[in-house]
Amino acid sequence: MKISKQKGTRDIYGKDLKIWQYIEENIRDICNTYNVKEIRTPVFEATELYSRSVGDDTDIVNKEMYTFTDRGGRSITLRPELTAGVVRAYIENGFSSMITPIKLWYEANMYRYEKMQKGRYREFTQFGVEFFGSESYLADIEVILLANTLFKKLNIADKVVLNINSIGCTTCRKEYIKALKDYVKPNLDSMCETCRTRYEKNPLRMLDCKEENCKKILKNAPELTEYLCEECKTDFENLKKMLTELDIKYVVDSRIVRGLDYYNKTVFEFVSKDLDLTVCAGGRYDRLVEYLGGNSTKAVGFGLGMDRLVLLLNELNILPELNDKVDAYILMQDSNAYKKGIDIVNKLRENGYIVEFDICNRSFNAQLKYANKINSKYVIIVGEEELKTNTCVIKNMEDSTQEKIELDYNLISKKIN
Ligand code: ATP
Ligand code: MG
Repeated sequence: MKISKQKGTRDIYGKDLKIWQYIEENIRDICNTYNVKEIRTPVFEATELYSRSVGDDTDIVNKEMYTFTDRGGRSITLRPELTAGVVRAYIENGFSSMITPIKLWYEANMYRYEKMQKGRYREFTQFGVEFFGSESYLADIEVILLANTLFKKLNIADKVVLNINSIGCTTCRKEYIKALKDYVKPNLDSMCETCRTRYEKNPLRMLDCKEENCKKILKNAPELTEYLCEECKTDFENLKKMLTELDIKYVVDSRIVRGLDYYNKTVFEFVSKDLDLTVCAGGRYDRLVEYLGGNSTKAVGFGLGMDRLVLLLNELNILPELNDKVDAYILMQDSNAYKKGIDIVNKLRENGYIVEFDICNRSFNAQLKYANKINSKYVIIVGEEELKTNTCVIKNMEDSTQEKIELDYNLISKKIN
């Protein structure tokens, strides 16, 4: 019986995998230059970690989590996002006693039970950063700058729009929520069920509603940025000023409230028009560490959808040079040639050349055909005759010229360079 992959999962290989690796190399380089350290955390955590941090009222916790009871009777969830996991690790490993700020990045698979669509999978990958220990807007700038640097490196900086907003702190949000509820109240009956629940439980989240009618009602709702307290206002002004100074274009979008419960102050998204999807989303979460049992620690971060980035690069055809060439194929005509031949193979590989030899017991002609198919630039033939004279024939597969030279690594590497 043939067993297929699960809905919403994919096998990644070939050209697509090259794009993934190309993005990953850039991520590593950039994080290195920003002096951000990698962290790896478990794929599964206690379900409570997510219900408490992401929020009971969010789509993720309500509908999308892969939750199961393990054999020991514990409720376990496959990570739907990683901020909660990183915060858990931050607290559990005593990161707060280390030099601050603590700047971490991750790249990992996430799991959400979602309706499969383009750019929306059940297993997907996020690259993310989380900075702990700074309350300054400069930390917000630094994470936005990092994401922007990646987009620049991938030549898509002008293909993603940065939308920013401030959702204030608990103090200013109270005022705003009151105003929002007053505004919505006369139309509440015609709003969707989710919005009606959110009206009571989490009014801000109504702004996130995708229903056309709700969107229409909320179109002229009061703006959160009008209700910011002095501190939040100053932070937001500073952030905008600095983005302008750094020549990072942005749009203030008062509709961004983000789908997770733990954000405050700055929230932002990089949106791709071409995909009509958000590629990167993040913001400040100054209360989460304390909420999960750690010392009060201000934090800011983002999660970037790698799968969507790959889709975008593919769609725009902005791809790395996909060099699939092999430097040399060593054709050893009989087993007597193995010792010397494989010695040359090893030396070439040690020096970074991409080299193959026959592992399928193919005939001479079949090997030549194979070398051609894998795009080998050179074929180095070590036959019976050549062995006797310690020579080899180097065949240039591009122009079909060939010559006999001594079977010597230095000579060969010079030839195929
Ligand atoms: P959306 O509104 O698109 O559902 P979200 O608010 O659920 O996004 P976050 O939880 O903030 O997304 O995740 C950060 C990023 O991770 C998103 O901007 C997106 O690029 C990516 N992402 C989220 N869910 C998926 C998914 N199911 N498949 C692929 N990428 C995803
Ligand atoms: Mg979602």
